Amino acid sequence: MTLKLSSVPPRDPATLHVERLKAGQELLCHAVSQSVFGLTTHWNESGRHSLPCTSVNCPGCKKGLPARWKGFLHVIRCSDRKQLLVELTSTATALLHDQVPQIDQLRGYRLRIYRGRGADNSRLRCELYGEKMQGLVLPSEIDLIPSLRKIWRGVPDLDLDTLTA
Ligand SMILES: [Zn+2]
Repeated sequence: MTLKLSSVPPRDPATLHVERLKAGQELLCHAVSQSVFGLTTHWNESGRHSLPCTSVNCPGCKKGLPARWKGFLHVIRCSDRKQLLVELTSTATALLHDQVPQIDQLRGYRLRIYRGRGADNSRLRCELYGEKMQGLVLPSEIDLIPSLRKIWRGVPDLDLDTLTA
């Protein structure tokens, strides 16, 4: 029997917590990403989870599940400098895009993202909150796919190895 020895532990690719704001929650943050990373998803039968649409051999399309666009933005929370991946709706993203001159140059903007009181599916809003910070030291942008793979781990019939942007 040969032991598999190594003094260096394996490292997962960097992943971020995916933050979905609940009713009445607010997030003040700076955008780290230059642009929103958006993709089509499906609601699964239970209506509780989403799964990504993979176009070819998509389990959601095969079952005729309704499609919904989701956006993800890498941000750094103002209160504790924690890096997060915040989930945005199409409405919130459109609202944000209406406020910036260039939708692919979001990095550095201070944002207020909040969900209306009432229910966890109340309208999500995203607005600029102050001026774009100049000379602000922000973390580097990272590949968001490993974080998204994490939230979709366990989805039946979904081959996560094929999930690429
Ligand atoms: Zn699909």
